[in-house]
Amino acid sequence: MKFKFFQIEIVRGCNASCIMCPARNLNNVEKMSLSMFHEISKFFTNTKWIHLQGWGEPLLHENFFDMVDLSKKYCNVSFTTNGILLNKDICEKIIDHDIDLVAISFAGIELHNKLRLGTNLNKLLENARTLIMLKNKSGNDKPEIVATYMLTKENIEEVPKFVELIAKIGFDTVIFTNLDYVFNEKTNELKAFSCRDTNKKFEKILNKAETIVKKYGLKFKRCSLKMEDVLICEASPIDSVVISVNGRIYPCAYINVPSKNITRIFCDKLYVYKKPFFGYAKNLIEHWNSYHYKKFREAFERRIEYYRRRFLEIVSNPFELESLINELREKYPLPEICRTCYKAYGI
Ligand code: SF4
Repeated sequence: MKFKFFQIEIVRGCNASCIMCPARNLNNVEKMSLSMFHEISKFFTNTKWIHLQGWGEPLLHENFFDMVDLSKKYCNVSFTTNGILLNKDICEKIIDHDIDLVAISFAGIELHNKLRLGTNLNKLLENARTLIMLKNKSGNDKPEIVATYMLTKENIEEVPKFVELIAKIGFDTVIFTNLDYVFNEKTNELKAFSCRDTNKKFEKILNKAETIVKKYGLKFKRCSLKMEDVLICEASPIDSVVISVNGRIYPCAYINVPSKNITRIFCDKLYVYKKPFFGYAKNLIEHWNSYHYKKFREAFERRIEYYRRRFLEIVSNPFELESLINELREKYPLPEICRTCYKAYGI
């Protein structure tokens, strides 16, 4: 089995306190032990990519670069950071340790400091400039430097200005994500998408941003503001796995939430699920092949298989194509825990 990626939560807890993050109220910062990381590294030959990210800031881990080195022996490595600790020394190490991709989290221009409490936009941009300068100086085309921007109702108007700003600094890529883990009234209020209509004004803003992105030749990815069933969510649970700080495995970060239960507000209704158990990373292959985990994946695999087969049969009839997704919903429903997850609807 070759996995597309492992996402490893080496730290749970943060030095920032973003108002849309469920980890902001954690009392402690938990860290995966280096020995546990060593133990699970026996499976690294089975993956193409390792992303060091969970519900916390990975650079808080004192063994961060040991973990990078261990991972780099086998595959590509990336991480997401709030940018606070990206000082010159860390930036040099990122280049020296040949990290493939660094994603820095943003949430606006004027609004950034208000949403990502504990971070400071000017300081982050200064840190990003240092990383870009060192990368250019090294003559290496790595790491790819990505700005991820979480869209909210409050900060979406700042998107075009933000794109201009980071393009001039020299970022390679910009990714717009939704506030997709909605767990309380505040996050429900802040999200930029809706279960009913797409906000046309917001859509226009993103289109404008896309024009600016093209002008500067940046790589670009944006989330959808419209909910539509997808065959499989972005987490790609059929060939990817999330490993939690305590060494458990999950299909995605939205099941590995930093709390005992999974609390979601989906289309204005509250749902609470007990966190399911999928197994331990130290026995990854055994647990991946367990009946329970296989059943979970099958729900997606059967949808994909049915869609491919039916698509070929009805490709010439657009009306039938439209009803195909409804057919899927009835014939091959998602696992229950996924039905109230916005990622299952392309958000
Ligand atoms: S639909 Fe949501 S809960 Fe289900 S695997 Fe995808 S991201 Fe996870």
